[in-house]
Amino acid sequence: MAGGSLEKAVQYIKGVGPERAKLLEKLGIMTVKDLLYYLPREWVDRSNIKPIIKVQPGALETVSGLVIASETRQVRNRLKITKVTIKDNTGFISGVWYNQPYIEKTFKRGFEVIFHGKIDTYGNSLQIGNPEYEIMDEEAPTESESINVNRIVPIYPLTEKLYQKQLRKIIKFALDNYLTELADDMPEEVRQKYSLPVLKDSIYALHFPVDFKSLEEAKKRLIFDEFFFLQLALALQRCGIKKEKGRVFDTAGPSYTQLIKTLPYELTGAQKRVIEEIRADLISGSPMNRLLHGDVGSGKTIVALACAVMAKDSGCQAAVMAPTELLAIQHMNNITSLFGGSGVRAELLTGAAPKAKRAAILEGLKDGSIDIVVGTHALLQDDVVFKNLGFAVIDEQHRFGVMQRQALVKKGIEAPHCLIMTATPIPRTLSMTVYGDTDVSVIDEMPPGRKPIITKVYGARSVEKLYNDLEARLKEKAQIYAVYPLVAESEKMDLKSAIEMEKHLALRFKDYRTAIIHGQMKKDERDEAMIKFKKREIDILVATTVIEVGIDVPNATVMMIEHADRFGLSQLHQLRGRVGRGDKQSYCILVDEGHSEDSRKRLDIMEETQDGFKISEKDLEIRGPGEFMGSRQHGISDFKIANILRDRAELARAREAAFGLVSDNCDVNHSAKEQLVRIIKQRYGASFDLINIG
Ligand code: ADP
Ligand code: MG
Repeated sequence: MAGGSLEKAVQYIKGVGPERAKLLEKLGIMTVKDLLYYLPREWVDRSNIKPIIKVQPGALETVSGLVIASETRQVRNRLKITKVTIKDNTGFISGVWYNQPYIEKTFKRGFEVIFHGKIDTYGNSLQIGNPEYEIMDEEAPTESESINVNRIVPIYPLTEKLYQKQLRKIIKFALDNYLTELADDMPEEVRQKYSLPVLKDSIYALHFPVDFKSLEEAKKRLIFDEFFFLQLALALQRCGIKKEKGRVFDTAGPSYTQLIKTLPYELTGAQKRVIEEIRADLISGSPMNRLLHGDVGSGKTIVALACAVMAKDSGCQAAVMAPTELLAIQHMNNITSLFGGSGVRAELLTGAAPKAKRAAILEGLKDGSIDIVVGTHALLQDDVVFKNLGFAVIDEQHRFGVMQRQALVKKGIEAPHCLIMTATPIPRTLSMTVYGDTDVSVIDEMPPGRKPIITKVYGARSVEKLYNDLEARLKEKAQIYAVYPLVAESEKMDLKSAIEMEKHLALRFKDYRTAIIHGQMKKDERDEAMIKFKKREIDILVATTVIEVGIDVPNATVMMIEHADRFGLSQLHQLRGRVGRGDKQSYCILVDEGHSEDSRKRLDIMEETQDGFKISEKDLEIRGPGEFMGSRQHGISDFKIANILRDRAELARAREAAFGLVSDNCDVNHSAKEQLVRIIKQRYGASFDLINIG
């Protein structure tokens, strides 16, 4: 028999050859294994053979009978019609083909055949145009199963010059001759515990299911497989981190106690809970690797700082890295007001630090006299050396690459505890796959006294009315952000740009002061505009999305976004988070210029909710997982059959199974451990740091 391996080039399969192999390659099918895993795009039920008398004109039906006539007629100049008539005990029906005269020979009188297709009537008689067919004659041996009709039939995605029946036949051959060689990598006890069908049966059923129930089970099995191995990789990666020794912190020392006592507000329940979660990590003896999720304005900074002083109390240093200088300055100001006079020494290190100042800070970091350093990428430079870095905070982590995160962590002598913070609310479903190697804490409660932001969607035609409303707000001394999708006018896109609109708004609102901020400006110019805005020297700040991660301006209470339909929902949510930071009522104004029901529906979600997680779930539904940050680096959009949204339940089960296999001391509890690790390295080696896996 075949005997070749599953890696054999598909060209050498019966019925393929070099020409078809090229076509198959276009579909991504290179090997026999690829054939086995090539997914139908749908399945149609042709199992239900109807007596001819019962068929319904217009319906898709399957009939069977004996050939009683087979003829081709020339109609008009160019058209040849081939008509094959069959009969069963109840009636007659004809299959009709156009300009395929050769087909006539396929159907000899007396053959038993099956037709499948849409029923038409022609005068008094029934016919099917271009039916799918199967000949059940002795010439086509009866023991060979019917694969095109009389069953549930797979419909594959095709490419030009390749036909359903050919591909079905090739795949059927591969199944019959090579499937036995397919090894099941899933540990047997996992398979049993989760009642998963055998892999070979599932692959077979995926192509040629006996019924829809077994098809569903087969799909589930393959979905589970995809999730399971990714989750196992994540579980092992997480173990690689946990294996290292982590410093045990004093989490109730004098600086911490002092900070909590003098805090100008009470921590929210969520903040307290998260601090407890972090605390447990800090005394566990393993390095912390925790992601802190919290909507814009939920108060992540204080949580990070409270833990940073635990580092001081434990005799080591903390570093807080932010993506922009403005944000770093803001953190520094926070620290100064919270720790002023408490004996905690904090310094700010950014690219802008003068030489002498920088040298002094480097010295302080090296000799350990600085307790907390706040900074930008500048912290990553080689000459920044710590005496004893024990705690690293990375704010707005999506602005940094994984490598930069690592670069900061590596400045610790032992593995420091690491807290990464983000306000980009990744849906929980997604964070489970993206951050499966990281523990996650969520601040799901806003500090008290915040007024919900009033969000309103305007149609493009109501812009004048909208500007009148803005004027009313300006009279109340509110400050306004006005956001546009482009910096400058573009010939390619007919969109308003920040530069053009700043001029326009300056004219329209003559009595008020406008300024502009965008990514093509120099950094100091940008900072200057931002600082002026904060000092209330500017009323309208015209901007692109550079203000997404920005500074706290409590008096800015209006966020207006034109061409809002051009932005992702999560991005709109981020922008909206720039207002609503003080005790005054804030507004978010979205101008919809999408001119479609869909764009309006999308923006209406912004009116309905302020829950970042809900919004990101919707965004995920609308835009698909590939769009989400970081998703590509873990290959999570590479699933063949699984869909993290639709198959959440399977994902949870697969995760439980995978994490269940990895013990607390980071071993794989399984006799086939080496094999599992090999499989994972094969599949995910490129995207994971799996060096630590035994
Ligand atoms: P984010 O999570 O977006 O980083 P911040 O940490 O900047 O949010 O906090 C936003 C604002 O809320 C800050 O001005 C901060 O002082 C304030 N804040 C934080 N926690 C509380 C609290 N428990 N009660 C009142 N105000 C708080
Ligand atoms: Mg923040």
